[in-house]
Amino acid sequence: MPQIASRVRSLGTETALDVLVKARAVEARGRSVIHLEVGEPDFPTPMHIVEAGVRALRDGKTRYGAPAGLPSLREAICEDLNLRGVRALPDRVLVTPGAKPILFYGFLATLSPGDEVLVPDPGFPIYASMVRFCGAVPVSIPPRLAEGRALDLDALEQAITPRTRMVVFNSPSNPTGAIVPEADLRRLAALAERHDLWVMADEIYRRIRYAAEEPSIAALPGMLDRTLLVDGFSKAYAMTGWRLGWGIFPAALAPHATRLMINSNTCTASFVQEAGLAALRGPYAFPDVRGLPLPSAALADRLLEEEAVALLDGVGFGPGGTGHLRLSFASSLESLEEAADRFGRLVARL
Ligand code: PLP
Repeated sequence: MPQIASRVRSLGTETALDVLVKARAVEARGRSVIHLEVGEPDFPTPMHIVEAGVRALRDGKTRYGAPAGLPSLREAICEDLNLRGVRALPDRVLVTPGAKPILFYGFLATLSPGDEVLVPDPGFPIYASMVRFCGAVPVSIPPRLAEGRALDLDALEQAITPRTRMVVFNSPSNPTGAIVPEADLRRLAALAERHDLWVMADEIYRRIRYAAEEPSIAALPGMLDRTLLVDGFSKAYAMTGWRLGWGIFPAALAPHATRLMINSNTCTASFVQEAGLAALRGPYAFPDVRGLPLPSAALADRLLEEEAVALLDGVGFGPGGTGHLRLSFASSLESLEEAADRFGRLVARL
């Protein structure tokens, strides 16, 4: 038999996907299975995202696109990052089919044989697998679970050697749910600077949490140039099967990551990216106001003039929108409640 390259023998796997295949086989036999194996929301992709994808398909967004991603999506990602205090520009953003390619390109672009990479253990198994594939050595860093901390920073500091090239962490963590609190992020940033390390921050579970959000390590001073930030749409928007992820790369790495994309995928499906854009831009309400004694355009004008609420006349979205208003829901709950009160006040005066 011709030879098989030794590098593929070092690849690990995700037991979650093995169990998913088995669970689907059990379902095929007619049993109803409760899925607690794969990390995915158990509700469908929200309808406004699905509609945007379908519309994009109908509009012919089925061709090759820019390798790094649609400019509109990369800009929307930067706006989203800005809300987290990360001041990245679109030329640092790479959009990929799922978040995994960001991990892969990041490791491929930074690791040489013999390098050491500090990885969380227990942690997402693909980190150690890909590190080994690159000929580098994964070094296990334990969590401090009793304190809900995803990394034991004392152990991490002790594990640093002259061969250490990168620290990987995932907050909130798969599988423990622990986080890297702000104080630990600051200490980690200082260590990365002192030892000249790359940091791979996997923030894919950022929106699935029960407590206030800690900052992104990429928002800390000087960290944008050593952080590879991994994120995506799979978990936050119930889009695991669409395959849509993104990453922010330091300026020195971004062109190499884009080359890896060109060599492996060319680009991410355009219609999938349009769906992602709809996800980031947030859901909208489109109430029918034809029952009120004012046309929708006049209603929108008076709401702004008299109650200082800015929203859109539905007709701006096509003649079919006549008689409707378009409200963005991508605001705080307090703003939405206040807007609803003011809307009620105006309607009472009509
Ligand atoms: N990072 C972590 C920690 C994950 O759990 C997963 C998926 O399970 C990924 C990255 C990959 O996400 P995607 O499905 O978008 O490639």
